[in-house]
Amino acid sequence: MKKRVLVAGGAGFIGSHLCEVLLENNCTVCCIDNLYTGRMENIRHLISNPDFEFINHDVIYPFEKEVDQIFNLASPASPVYYQIDPVRTWKTNTIGSMNMLELARKNKARIFQSSTSEVYGDPDIHPQPEEYRGNVNPIGLRACYDEGKRAAETLFFDYHRMYGIEIKVVRIFNTYGPRMFPEDGRVISNFIIEALRDRPLKVYGDGSQTRSFCFVDDMIRGFMKMMNSPATITGPINLGNPCELTIFQVAELIIDMCNSNSTIDFRELPEDDPRKRKPDITKAKTLLGWQPEVDFEKGLMKAINYFDNLLAGERKEKEPVENVLLINDPCLKNNLKINEFDTIQKNYI
Ligand code: NAD
Ligand code: UDP
Repeated sequence: MKKRVLVAGGAGFIGSHLCEVLLENNCTVCCIDNLYTGRMENIRHLISNPDFEFINHDVIYPFEKEVDQIFNLASPASPVYYQIDPVRTWKTNTIGSMNMLELARKNKARIFQSSTSEVYGDPDIHPQPEEYRGNVNPIGLRACYDEGKRAAETLFFDYHRMYGIEIKVVRIFNTYGPRMFPEDGRVISNFIIEALRDRPLKVYGDGSQTRSFCFVDDMIRGFMKMMNSPATITGPINLGNPCELTIFQVAELIIDMCNSNSTIDFRELPEDDPRKRKPDITKAKTLLGWQPEVDFEKGLMKAINYFDNLLAGERKEKEPVENVLLINDPCLKNNLKINEFDTIQKNYI
């Protein structure tokens, strides 16, 4: 019998790649998502697959389904989006995680949590090993996400200890690739889109802060290895690419790779922006036999091609007004545009 896998947040950037790989691995996939930062466009090509099901659901509310495995990815990941409604971000990561854990408990299902390098806050240990307990400002603008993810880790380990459910917790470091939401404000998507439009790239601060970027295919390989590892491996395990660059270096590289005439503008550094970040992946290497394979320039080229096609498509096809529905969501700064196909999917569900 095929493994029945639930992916919460499956219409998002990483989630949609995961759904694809799970289907390739002969699983049936139920994707639940409230489309806050995810898009039907990401999973449109999967809808006709009989082993794939999409349900528009907010994890803040309980969910019932017979499943064997659960991947919990439901949460906005971009600082811009998770700060629009911090209370909602907090609820998604705490109440939402608890609802997923309850589902795992009822089904005796194995459950995977997509935690984050943000649990280390603005780290004073470098690179960051899993033992490091972090330096998070609990009352800052990023806390709704950082502390929400930390609380979720606590819940996972408490459910594991109290109810014996099998948990798999990974701490994801900055991940990039095709299907990133073009307007969600993350650095790689922002820089590529600005470079492709020959507009100035906005570097926050002096650009000396560092990040280590992992290509999405490598990340999904890590997810699969973790989910299918022996039950004794609970994590947390760092997944990320230790290749560390300053944000200024990233800006220069992207301008160069896009053959762009963009310049670089310096803007104010957001509050609590971590100064450096690089994963220690010793555990992932030794326990999972995993390490990233895609080097940054190769991965960037794939992301650049993706956004280039997207912009070309936007320029070509102006959607007829009658096919467009505006969802007036008070939690979004801008109204979200979805097309008729998405409306049909929603009505169908
Ligand atoms: P994303 O925003 O593209 O995907 C998140 C998905 O969760 C979206 O489809 C969104 O609509 C959905 N979602 C949000 N709130 C929800 C709710 N209450 N109920 C149901 N669905 C909800 O982001 P991503 O980059 O694909 O990130 C996926 C996961 O990985 C997130 O949990 C994120 O915190 C984690 N993560 C990502 C990165 C990264 O660099 N991309 C780094 C660290 C951790
Ligand atoms: N950043 C930037 N310009 C942008 C977007 C982000 O200089 O247009 C910086 C941001 O201040 C941070 C880094 O790039 O130092 C990574 O930002 P992102 O939002 O992608 O991820 P996170 O801060 O969560 O690692």
